[in-house]
Amino acid sequence: MASLQSTKMIVEEQHVITLTYDLRDTDAKGEMLERTDAEDPFTFLFGVGQLLPSFEAKLRGLKEGDHFSFTLTPEDAYGESISENIVDIPMENFQIEGEVPENILTPGNFITMRDTYGQEHLGKVVSFNEISARIDFNHVMAGRTLHFDGNILRIRKATSDEMDHGHHHPQEGEAGHHHHHDE
Ligand SMILES: [Zn+2]
Repeated sequence: MASLQSTKMIVEEQHVITLTYDLRDTDAKGEMLERTDAEDPFTFLFGVGQLLPSFEAKLRGLKEGDHFSFTLTPEDAYGESISENIVDIPMENFQIEGEVPENILTPGNFITMRDTYGQEHLGKVVSFNEISARIDFNHVMAGRTLHFDGNILRIRKATSDEMDHGHHHPQEGEAGHHHHHDE
């Protein structure tokens, strides 16, 4: 009698993965930082550097319907928060036509600033006074231990277009932006 070989796809390169996850601070009982549920799942092309390598490594080899639960240390995730990334910036840098727009320096606000090389950086306002504002440019997840719990909903082969572009093109039931390309 011939035996049937399982052809069930796994999480690996050249595959588009759709999953859900709860992201919590430190462990399964920690504060919820992000949630992606079955009504609005997360879809991505595996192995193209879109996600944390440590996150992909934990998912590799899983099949549709599999549950995952794992923890990433700050070193495996977004690194430690470092004091060099918290900077006092002179007030004139926030002025537009001589005035600082109202409310932009509210502590906790996120602002985008351009450096001298034209590169944009997302920072969080820590505090401010008449002379300067203290902005934290560490990644919002820096210093955090991240606990993920979730399910693999779908796995499909990536199309050659998707492989060429280095991202998935959303199909029925997949999240992401539809876009047009000029060929
Ligand atoms: Zn594309």
